[in-house]
Amino acid sequence: MADNRKTELEALLEKQRDAFTAARPEPLDARRDRIERAMALLKENADELCKAMSADFGSRSIQQSMITDIASTVGFGHYCLKNMAKWSRPERRKVQFPLGLLGAKAELRYEPKGVIGILSPWNFPVNLSFGPLMQVFAAGNRAMIKPSEFTERTSDVMAELVAKRFSDDECAVVTGGPEVAHAFSSLPFDHLVFTGSTATGRKVMEAAARNLVPVTLELGGKSPVFLGRSADLKKAGERIAMGKMMNAGQICLAPDYLYVPEDMEEGAVAAVELGARDMYPTLLANDDYASVVSDRHFDRLKGLVADAREKGADVIEVNPADEDFGNSNTRKMPLTILRNVTDDMAAMQEEIFGPVLPVKTYKAIDEAIDYVNKNDRPLGLYYFGEDGGEREKVLTRTISGGVTVNDVVFHVSMEDLPFGGVGPSGIGSYHGVEGFREFSHARSVYTQPKIDVAKLGGFKPPYGSATDKAIKTMMK
Ligand code: NAD
Repeated sequence: MADNRKTELEALLEKQRDAFTAARPEPLDARRDRIERAMALLKENADELCKAMSADFGSRSIQQSMITDIASTVGFGHYCLKNMAKWSRPERRKVQFPLGLLGAKAELRYEPKGVIGILSPWNFPVNLSFGPLMQVFAAGNRAMIKPSEFTERTSDVMAELVAKRFSDDECAVVTGGPEVAHAFSSLPFDHLVFTGSTATGRKVMEAAARNLVPVTLELGGKSPVFLGRSADLKKAGERIAMGKMMNAGQICLAPDYLYVPEDMEEGAVAAVELGARDMYPTLLANDDYASVVSDRHFDRLKGLVADAREKGADVIEVNPADEDFGNSNTRKMPLTILRNVTDDMAAMQEEIFGPVLPVKTYKAIDEAIDYVNKNDRPLGLYYFGEDGGEREKVLTRTISGGVTVNDVVFHVSMEDLPFGGVGPSGIGSYHGVEGFREFSHARSVYTQPKIDVAKLGGFKPPYGSATDKAIKTMMK
């Protein structure tokens, strides 16, 4: 990358930080105004943004984009507006006895961090840029956004719209490929939010570490579905098919693989197939069904299926209208269920991120629990069933970023629940009060009373019997 691009990014960061510093203390209304402008930008340009996403994907339903990228993000803006005064209120904290009686005070203030970098992926390009932005603004920060190069048109539209609505010292969108992304992640931000793959997340954290920039990493992983014996198969099948086929499975929280009781495998697979057929009776010319984002991603998914087939998996293509996918250039892929999978298959090793669903079986649910525990902590985990004891066993013996019971993916849509991973599926979270705190600095403020507390407590030299007495009391 040309050095002048890097210099440009550094200058932009400096400009934002200077503006941030000069404007402090900023009233909450300034934050509200930024959130409202971001919401208005989305509302007024929803059509253009959805068309850009559709063009970037090759095909992506406008209605789906309205739900997943526009309306949900506007809704999150409302949620931030409603809660930010409460979130930003200073908290009184306790002081040790007898300091309170002497007039000491302890207070926690949530203060903005400064300039926050937002690096976003292509799968929900608007949501994953503007979603964090709403809470970054709620906490009083400025923002620089670097969206994905895979959804280039959407990134260009976002850059143009942001430039119209915001001065570049409040919010700016920077476009470019991996080199720009690398330079971006090397900037000395006050905080960096990255949403993307675990592999890139590692690089981002390394780059951020050089400047000790705190990070929020929203990553991916293999989110398992536990199908319990008490599950309603029909409902579970529909819901799993919906979560696996929305955005053609290109969702960080998509159910990655299914774990079912051995004797229920036939029924579970049939239920997922039925769910898929009901929602998508055709696929190729069906605007409701998204394309895979690029040839590279499409080839990777076909490679996962070919590798599984070669290693002995049964491959079931759910192709309700018997369409000819071989001669299509739409990058549409039917839901592909893999049975008899083994751990040496790539589909059981890497995050699938597409409409391919491996099915594993268990005799006792403990096998499924042990399997999940042996692998990287997933971003999401799903349990279907009405058996409360079994559900709690699964939840209390596994670890994941979040959980949805009797459905998949939905926990992310609860605005008041923090969303994030754990370990390889992520660090930190946003949404809920936790997101506000993630983008704030919790600053402790202690006010000393007039009286000489150090002397009174025996901490002031010359040390003597008062000191010994204080130590004795503390060691009790
Ligand atoms: P990606 O990691 O390839 O790219 C994400 C962003 O990182 C892009 O903006 C890209 O330009 C940038 N980037 C690329 N190379 C970089 C580098 N060396 N240094 C810094 N930045 C770099 O991810 P993707 O393919 O766009 O998205 C898919 C992945 O994202 C999946 O793993 C999915 O699970 C994950 N994801 C997670 C969430 C979540 O909220 N946890 C949401 C959506 C997607």
